Amino acid sequence: MQEKLKNILSDARQVLSQASRLEELNEIRVRFLGKKGLLTGVLRGMGALSAEERPRIGQLANEVRSQIEDILERRTAEIKEKQKIIRLEMEKIDVTLPGTPLMMGRKHPLTVIQEEIEDIFLGMGYTIEEGPEIETDFYNFEALNIPKDHPARDMQDSFFINPEILLRTHTSPVQVRTMERTTPGLPVRIIAPGRVYRRDDDATHSPMFNQVEGLVVDRRVTFADLKGTLQVFVEKMFGSSTKTRFRASFFPFTEPSAEVDISCVMCGGRGCRVCSQSGWLEILGCGMVHPRVLEVSGYNPEEVSGFAFGMGVERITMLKYGIDDLRLLFENDLRFLAQF
Ligand SMILES: [Zn+2]
Repeated sequence: MQEKLKNILSDARQVLSQASRLEELNEIRVRFLGKKGLLTGVLRGMGALSAEERPRIGQLANEVRSQIEDILERRTAEIKEKQKIIRLEMEKIDVTLPGTPLMMGRKHPLTVIQEEIEDIFLGMGYTIEEGPEIETDFYNFEALNIPKDHPARDMQDSFFINPEILLRTHTSPVQVRTMERTTPGLPVRIIAPGRVYRRDDDATHSPMFNQVEGLVVDRRVTFADLKGTLQVFVEKMFGSSTKTRFRASFFPFTEPSAEVDISCVMCGGRGCRVCSQSGWLEILGCGMVHPRVLEVSGYNPEEVSGFAFGMGVERITMLKYGIDDLRLLFENDLRFLAQF
């Protein structure tokens, strides 16, 4: 019996030293120390022992049990430690490796230019006003001196929702709305950026495009103020050597009216393909606010005067970046947009 116990102990030592997983240790525990285990099996035979042998064997059996338990405990700790080291090794992160690059978003070129335009006018004391893109016929045409039978309505083929409501064809309604709201407050000095809609679609026209309009109303505002303001804008936008040229034109809501050209940004005025060899590029329309428009908005044209101007953000963007097809701005090809 003593011999059997010693064998159990040495067998246990042997298998425990070879075990490499916690599950194996558990199996070994059951095999040697469990209710149906080897040690229990030996102890069951104790009844056959003599009275003086029994305590000695009992003590030996307890020693064998506690030794096996000690080894189990030690091996459990060792295996856990080894597994921890393996796990740490597997989870190791090399912080010196290059990271996974994130796609950086960026502003659309139209947004960049619109914000540039806004900044220039904010710097001159203007505030930014916005208005609805779905407009009434009154604000889009009537209040701007374009009555129902006015031939100017042919110039702007429009998206009508019903005979009285349409998608605005310009941001000028914002001028009227602002004047109505602030009358008789002076001065009015605003720019109105926003989307506008016309029934055009080709390489230089899009059915939806962006405008920035400006309006100044105050006492003694003159055409000279308009020229000075736009000259400052052009120099800040296209560089201080850029020249401006005012050509007489016609708009129903301004009188007198002018188109503004700048010296060609591509050739500096010598003449090239972009400016059709003329040396000049048309960039915006402007004029002194028509007395009728002031009247409709609640101002007395005998007391106050004003000027207004409007430009296409797409046009400015194309000139500034040398883009030759308007549609590139709306196709959202990332290879194109990533250049700005
Ligand atoms: Zn040119």
